[in-house]
Amino acid sequence: MSALIEALRHRLPAERVITDELRRLAYGTDGSFYRLIPEVVAVVDDEAEVRDVIDLARRHRRPVTFRAAGTSLCGQAVTDGVLVLLGEGLATCRIAADGATVSVGPAIIGAEVNRRLAPLGRKIGPDPASINAAKIGGIAANNSSGMCCGTAQNSYRTLAALRVMLADGSVLDTGDAASVAAFRRSHAGLLDSLARLAGDVRDDAALAARIHAKYKIKNTTGYSLNALVDFTDPVDILAHLMIGSEGTLGFIAEVSYHTVPEYAHKASALVFFPDMESACQAVVGLKQQPVDAVELLDRASLRAVADKPGMPALLRTLADGATALLIETRAPDAAALAARIAAVLDELRRHPLIEAPAFTTDPTEIERLWNVRKGTFPAVGAVRKPGTTVIIEDVAVAVPMLAAACLDLQALFAKHGYLEAIIFGHALEGNVHFVFTQDFGIESEVARYAAFMDDVCRLLVEKYDGSLKAEHGTGRNMAPFVELEWGTRAYALMRDIKQLFDPEGLLNPGVIINDDPAAHLKNLKPMPAAGQLYAPVDRCIECGFCEPQCPSHGLTLSPRQRIVGWRELSRRQAAGEAPGQLGQDYLYMGLDTCATCGLCSTACPVGIETGALTRAVRGEQLSGVARSLGRLAANHFGATQALARSAIKAGHLAEAVIGTRALSRLSGGAWKEGMPTPQPLANAGRASRSQGDKVVYFPTCAGRMFGADTPEQALSATVIRVLERAGYAPIVPAGVNELCCGQSFASKGLGDDADRKSAQLEAALMKASDNGKYPIVLDASACSLRMKTFLAGRLPVFDLVEFAHDALLPRLMLAKKTDPVLIHLNCSARRMGFEAKLKQLAAACAEQPVHPPEVKCCGFGGDRGFAVPELNAHALRKLDVPSGCCGGYSSNQTCEIGLTHATGLPYRSIVHLLDECSAEAARLASC
Ligand SMILES: Cc1cc2nc3c(=O)[nH]c(=O)nc-3n(C[C@H](O)[C@H](O)[C@H](O)COP(=O)(O)OP(=O)(O)OC[C@H]3O[C@@H](n4cnc5c(N)ncnc54)[C@H](O)[C@@H]3O)c2cc1C
Ligand code: SF4
Ligand code: SF4
Repeated sequence: MSALIEALRHRLPAERVITDELRRLAYGTDGSFYRLIPEVVAVVDDEAEVRDVIDLARRHRRPVTFRAAGTSLCGQAVTDGVLVLLGEGLATCRIAADGATVSVGPAIIGAEVNRRLAPLGRKIGPDPASINAAKIGGIAANNSSGMCCGTAQNSYRTLAALRVMLADGSVLDTGDAASVAAFRRSHAGLLDSLARLAGDVRDDAALAARIHAKYKIKNTTGYSLNALVDFTDPVDILAHLMIGSEGTLGFIAEVSYHTVPEYAHKASALVFFPDMESACQAVVGLKQQPVDAVELLDRASLRAVADKPGMPALLRTLADGATALLIETRAPDAAALAARIAAVLDELRRHPLIEAPAFTTDPTEIERLWNVRKGTFPAVGAVRKPGTTVIIEDVAVAVPMLAAACLDLQALFAKHGYLEAIIFGHALEGNVHFVFTQDFGIESEVARYAAFMDDVCRLLVEKYDGSLKAEHGTGRNMAPFVELEWGTRAYALMRDIKQLFDPEGLLNPGVIINDDPAAHLKNLKPMPAAGQLYAPVDRCIECGFCEPQCPSHGLTLSPRQRIVGWRELSRRQAAGEAPGQLGQDYLYMGLDTCATCGLCSTACPVGIETGALTRAVRGEQLSGVARSLGRLAANHFGATQALARSAIKAGHLAEAVIGTRALSRLSGGAWKEGMPTPQPLANAGRASRSQGDKVVYFPTCAGRMFGADTPEQALSATVIRVLERAGYAPIVPAGVNELCCGQSFASKGLGDDADRKSAQLEAALMKASDNGKYPIVLDASACSLRMKTFLAGRLPVFDLVEFAHDALLPRLMLAKKTDPVLIHLNCSARRMGFEAKLKQLAAACAEQPVHPPEVKCCGFGGDRGFAVPELNAHALRKLDVPSGCCGGYSSNQTCEIGLTHATGLPYRSIVHLLDECSAEAARLASC
C-alpha cells in the first residue's frame, strides 16, 4: 500500500478510500474517449475532507482531479493521480424564500435543483442535455449550457456568489462579506496579480475587443477570459474565472445562482427547409423573435432517426440537403404564448419552406417532436461497429456564418471518410455538434482522426474565428488547440492564470493547459467488443446517464461501471488473459449487487438495460448443478413453493423464540423484521361469484408464498374482495400453485426455464380469460412487466396499479385516510410508466400521500435483498419517514419486505389502501 493511501485511510473512513482494481478502472472512465486509471479514489463529504485530501496529495506529490458525475466529454474528469469523488454530503441545496436565488453544493444533480425550484416557477439557467445526471460542480466547472440557456443564462452569467477552496486550502465565499474581507487580507498578492492581468487586458484594446467578441457566441475553450474584461474587482474576477476552469484552479464548494423563470406554456414546431442555407438564414431572422430554442438538424441527422417509431413520415422522403429547425417558444400564459407563436410564424413566412409550419401545444406531440432531436446522437451511437467509439464535437460560429460552416464541415466529413457523421445543435447560438464514429484500436485510424481534427480546428479558427469548444469544456481533447484558437497573447494570459492559482501543478494537470501537441491522441480509451452475451452492451457510450437511477451506485458499481468492468473482462478473455482479482470482485460488485431492476434502461440514450447483461452473465456463471436445480424448481414449482412456505413458517417460529435481531444476525441479514407469514393457498379454477364482470386474477408467487396476519388480510383475499366490491367476478386460473411468470428464474440467469414458466402461464391465462376475452390482472408489478413483455400484446394483461386506476377507481367510493402514507413506485411500475396512475390512486385514497423523490428502486431485487441486504439498505438510505406516518404502500411484495425492513413501518400492496378506503366509505354510507 502506498504511503498516500495509508495516509488517506487515516483521514477518511475505509469504505471511502477506493483502491481495488475494478473500481479504479470504473472511475477511470468519464463520458469521453479518454481513460486514466486513478491511483486511488477518495470520496469526500465536506470541505474539511477536501482540504485534507488536497494537502495529503501535495505532500505525496500526486495530482488531484475532482469528479462530480463524470459525464464530461473531453477527458477532464479522469486522472492517474488522486480522483476526489464528491460525496452526498456535498449535495446541499438552499432556496431563497422568493426563489430568486439558490445556493447549491457541488454534488447535487442539476435536475434535482430544478425539481425543487419547480413549485416556485423557477429553474437554474444552465441546461446541458446531461442535466439529469450532471452535478453542479461539473456544470459550473465546465460552464455547461444547452438548448435554451444560450450565452445569457450559463453559470458565468447567472452566478450570484461562489464559495471556493484554493489549492492552498484557503476558502473564499464571495457571498459572505467577512470571508471576502479576510481573503482580501490573506491573499492580497493573488488579488493584486489578477487586478494587474485585468488592467493589462483593458490597456490592450485589440485584445479586450477580441475577448468581448469571442464571448458573443458560446465558448468554453480555455479559461473564462471574459472575467478580465467584465469585472474590475479581483474578487469578482476570481469567482468568474472559476467558472469553466474544469477543476484546474480550485474546488467549487458552493454556487449561488440567480434563477430564471420556468414557463409552463410551451409550443414547438418542426420546420423543414429545402437546404442548409435557407434554414440558417431563417435562424438569423428567428434570433430577433421571441423563441427559446432553435435546434438545427441536417439531412444526415434526419435520416438517422427517420425509421424510429413515431417519427414524422416526411423524414423518409426529404431530398438531399434538406434541413430542419425545431423551434420552441415559451410564455407565462396562453395569451402571451399565442402572441409569440404569431410572431414566429410571421418570420417563417419570409423563408422558403418545404411545408407550412405548424406549432403544437399538446405535450405529447411536443415530446414526439423533441424525440426527433434527442434521438439523433444515440442513433449514430447505436449503429456503430462493436469496438468503436462515438465522438461528439461541439463548435460555434457567429450565426450569420453558420450555413457556410456547416457545409464546410460536411465537406471535411467527406474528405476524411466520416460518411456517417451528422450535424445538429443549438442554431440560435451558432453552436452545432457533429457526431461520428471512430476506431481507436488501429493506428491508421488514430492518424485519420488526428488529420480530421487538425483540419476541423484550422477551418473553424482561420475561416470563422469560431469556438472549438462551445459548451463541453476544453479537457484534454482541445487543450493542444487552445493557443491556435486564442492566439499567443491570450494563451499566455491563461498560463499566467494557472500559475497564479496552482503554481505546483497539483490541480487536474494536462487539462486546459497542456504542452503536448498530441495530448488529444494519448490515453485513448479501449472499447473492446463485449456483446457476446448481451449485444446492446456494445452500444454503450459510457455517458453515465444511467447512474442516478441505480440502487447499487455508490455501494459497489453503477450500470456504466458494470459495463466498463465487463468490457475489460471481455478484453482479457479475448486476449487469453486471466480475469484476476478484477474478475473475482466483479462477482460481488457486478453481479451479486445488481438488483436487475432495469431502471438503468429508463435513462439510457441507446436503450441498454444493464440488468439484462447481469442476468446473461449470471446465467453463464451458473454451474451445471445450479442449472439442474433451477430446472427442477421450474418443473416442480408447486412443491418448491410449498418448501419455501414451510421455510418461512419455520423462520417465524424461530423469530418467536430467539427474536428478530438474533434471527436476522444468524441469517446474515436475510431474515427481515416484519417478514409476512405464508398465506393459505388460493382457491382456483372458477369465478369467485356468479354475478359481475369477469376478470382473471393471477395471484403471483410472492403473494402466494408470503402471507399476512390473518387470512382476510392476505394479498389474494384483499384483491378478490376489492374486485368484487367494484362489481367484478374474479377468476383465478386453474392450477395456480404450479404457475409462475418466470421472473425469479430470469433474474438468476435461468432464461430458458423462465421462458418455459411464462409460456405455461400464458396457456393458463389464455384458458381462464376465454382466449383473452376478459382482462387479466397480476398483483405484482415485476410479474406484470415480465408478462407484458413476454406476451407482446397477445393477451390483455394489466398490472394491479394500472387496473385499479383505470377500472376500479371509477367504480369505488373511497373515504380518504387522513394520516400521511408513504407511497413507493417500484422499478417495474416505473418502467411501465405508471407513476402518474399510482400518484392518482394514492391521492384518491389519502389526504397526505408522500412520494419520496430520491428513492427509486428499493434494492430488494426480487429475492436479492435476502442475499445482499446491504443493497436494500443502500438503496433506501434517503427514505425519510414523515412524522405521524404509520405505513406505506407499493405494488410488489418483495419490495414491500425491503421497505418494511428499512423503515420499520408496515408496507403493503396499494390494494390494501383501496380496500381500507372503500370499506370505510361503505361503512360511512351505511351509517
Ligand atoms: C450524452 C451527453 C450529452 C451532453 N450534453 C451536454 C450539453 O448539452 N451541454 C454541455 O455543456 N455539456 C454536455 N455534456 C457534457 C457534460 O455532461 C457536462 O459538461 C456536465 O455539466 C458535466 O457535469 P459532471 O457532473 O458530469 O462533471 P464531471 O464530468 O464530473 O466534471 C467536469 C469537470 O468539472 C470538474 N469539477 C467537478 N466538480 C468540481 C468542483 N466541485 N470544483 C471544481 N471542479 C470540479 C472536474 O474536475 C471536471 O474537470 C454532455 C455529455 C454527454 C455524455
Ligand atoms: S448504459 Fe446507457 S446510460 Fe449507461 S453509460 Fe452506457 S450508454 Fe450511458
Ligand atoms: S438493473 Fe438496476 S441494479 Fe442493475 S445496473 Fe441497472 S439500475 Fe443498477
